[in-house]
Amino acid sequence: MQALKFFSRKKPKIVLPFYPTNNVYFMDTNIVAYNEKQIAHLLQLQQIEEKLARLEELRGDLPVLVTKLVDSIEATRRKKKDSENRLEDYKKAIEDKQVEYKACKDKVKTYEKQQKEASNDQEYKLLTKRMELEKLDVLLAQKKVKEYQNVVAKEKIKIDEFEKELNKQEKILAEKKKTLEAIDRANEVKLADLEKKREKTTKGIDVAFYDMYQEIRESIKQEVLVNVVDDACRGCFIIIPPQQQVHVMNREQIIHCENCHRVLAYVKPTKKEEEVPKKAVSRRKTQASRSTT
Ligand SMILES: [Zn+2]
Repeated sequence: MQALKFFSRKKPKIVLPFYPTNNVYFMDTNIVAYNEKQIAHLLQLQQIEEKLARLEELRGDLPVLVTKLVDSIEATRRKKKDSENRLEDYKKAIEDKQVEYKACKDKVKTYEKQQKEASNDQEYKLLTKRMELEKLDVLLAQKKVKEYQNVVAKEKIKIDEFEKELNKQEKILAEKKKTLEAIDRANEVKLADLEKKREKTTKGIDVAFYDMYQEIRESIKQEVLVNVVDDACRGCFIIIPPQQQVHVMNREQIIHCENCHRVLAYVKPTKKEEEVPKKAVSRRKTQASRSTT
């Protein structure tokens, strides 16, 4: 067998073994058989993955919604925890201020008592001054207690609101999860079967072909192997030169569409596919007839 050359395409960057194109008359039956087998397996893989994608479609936006809800619940819980911590801090601060308030009041009482027993005018005046200062501290402590009580009241309202929000979100999450689980349960067997088939099919595909397939699939998020219909790539509808069509038909090498990089392969068209070109032709005809009139 002739040595395989390696060919690199810029987009996507794939290295694939294939036969030199300058010798179109030379066709190695081995390489044709090899390519045929690889294409057949890739087609099988594509069909399985499309079925898997349809199963995933059944789940709709539920997985995204569930993730979003979980994140949102997490964020609300964090906010609630912050409020609870603030509430505790302020409750502690109130207690401290109340202790301070009582101490100041006690001092005022002491000074009042000492004032009654003052031996001279100077001592009396000094005690009056001290008493006034303590009375100011009493007022200040009272003011702070009120201020902190307001904060506590506000945090309590916030915590209640977070609690209500959490209940609401958790209820919605439970519903969404239930629906999603029901869908998954209904498709469990099908999914397991398809996963098994995918694994088996993948084993029959060479790494280079498999990587190429996955790379294209990842970038276009659509089918990778397409037909040539009416001389055009079925994926992007660009015209495929006749020489390339010959290669596609002969399968002596893997041909990528120059425009969309899909693999051009002879895939048995589905009924849906057969209908589209007809419509396109009739539309073209209508346009042509319109332009002539
Ligand atoms: Zn194309």
